[in-house]
Amino acid sequence: MSNADWANKDFYKVLGVAKDADASAIKKAYRKLARENHPDSNPGNQAAEDRFKQVAEAYDVVVDADKRREYDEMQALFAGGHPRAGFTGFGGQPGGGGMGGFDISDLFGGLFGGGAAQQRGNVRRATRGPDLETEASIGFTDAVDGTTISLRLSSEGACATCRGTGGKPGTRPHVCPTCDGTGMVVSTMGGAFSMNETCPECHGRQMIYDEACPTCHGSGRGTSSRTLQARIPAGVKDGQKIRLKGKGGAGENGGPAGDLFVTVRVGAHPVFGRKGDHLTLVAPVSFDEAALGAQITVPTLHDGPVTVKIAPGTPNGRVLRVRGRGVQGKSATGDLLVTIEVQVPTDLDEAAKAALAAYRDATAGHDPRAALFTRTQERTS
Ligand SMILES: [Zn+2]
Ligand SMILES: [Zn+2]
Repeated sequence: MSNADWANKDFYKVLGVAKDADASAIKKAYRKLARENHPDSNPGNQAAEDRFKQVAEAYDVVVDADKRREYDEMQALFAGGHPRAGFTGFGGQPGGGGMGGFDISDLFGGLFGGGAAQQRGNVRRATRGPDLETEASIGFTDAVDGTTISLRLSSEGACATCRGTGGKPGTRPHVCPTCDGTGMVVSTMGGAFSMNETCPECHGRQMIYDEACPTCHGSGRGTSSRTLQARIPAGVKDGQKIRLKGKGGAGENGGPAGDLFVTVRVGAHPVFGRKGDHLTLVAPVSFDEAALGAQITVPTLHDGPVTVKIAPGTPNGRVLRVRGRGVQGKSATGDLLVTIEVQVPTDLDEAAKAALAAYRDATAGHDPRAALFTRTQERTS
């Protein structure tokens, strides 16, 4: 027996008991009716046999506390204006009448939207909500320090106005005449072949409304958006995925919410770069600073300038390390890595030119390209 046709049956009336009858009254009524209509006592009496079956069916539901509650809830739902007696075949499931077949509550969710689902939450399975993904862009300094961002999430779901029914709120649905309320139609493929298809009139919803919902124009679909605050931890890297537990899609029937995964895009900084938990910085130095050695000052992201010692004869591209002035990572703080970039002067005054000419003359004995030729000789000989 499928509970799909419970809506049309009054089991209390069949048993001749009150809707709030207790278990002993129900058992007593059943035993009496079963005895009276038992086929053994009524050979050849079809009416008695039918009655016996009805009584057995009713007793099976009403004597079971869980089934009885489900039945009562269903009756209560349909008492609110079910359009037509004899409405059967929810969802058009062929042969869906087996024990433990399909779950009527799924269909109710589809028909009546979230309200009905909540009402029936105690008999539906708790389901964890889906995980969601989104992206967020944050500034360089915010990534180093950690920040709180607002995320606006929009998700496809049931139309909020009609709760997914597609009908104008306040109007009553009626059974779809095209599919006779099954949600399915049989299309003939030619020859002996035919197949079930979703009803084009009601789109499988089984019911139709004379007036469509003004918000979704009858589709029953809508986009809802919500804004949430998300904490981005200090030291987040570009492209890193942050998991926000429980901030994903809502669970159903008391199930937990899914998680939200935020892929973080970190913006560039005009001066600093990132290399893991290290900050990087390119420091231009003049030729004389690199050659003679110097103390230079460079900025840090937060703590003001620091002094860096350039050793005499520091080559272009050397990386100097300032400990502890990088990003506060999970376990340790990174360093500031200073890359030396030797500048070539372009706008020399006469005094500077004269000084460089004197330097040239003083170093005339040194050919910086001599090694190119000796090494080329080595390769070809
Ligand atoms: Zn239909
Ligand atoms: Zn709508």
